[in-house]
Amino acid sequence: MSHSLKAKRVRAYNSQNGRCYYCEIQMWLNDPQDHYLRSSVSSAGMVRIRCTAEHVQARSDGGSNAKENIVAACWFCNQARHRRPRPVNSQAFRAFVKSRMRAQKWHPAQFHQRCGN
Ligand SMILES: [Zn+2]
Repeated sequence: MSHSLKAKRVRAYNSQNGRCYYCEIQMWLNDPQDHYLRSSVSSAGMVRIRCTAEHVQARSDGGSNAKENIVAACWFCNQARHRRPRPVNSQAFRAFVKSRMRAQKWHPAQFHQRCGN
């Protein structure tokens, strides 16, 4: 990952108050241990909510690294979107994730409890 993309990830993280663009869970940026101490999430679950840089328009669809195209998303949402043969539209994916969050079928129970969903 380039240095500039990392800077955009930090910028997006801060502008979103540390919350995932899709599921709105509180992510961690640099220090999972710090996050763990302040939350009820087990250390084993930490990798799932690591902050990643997400391309709103996927790179495979011609999306650029411009800051307008970068949002902060948790690792789980990011990989779930891109695991598909063709990345779905970010708005459609966001609606999908939100419906799964409401049904408490996106993250394990410990995550749902702490984000009030
Ligand atoms: Zn997420």
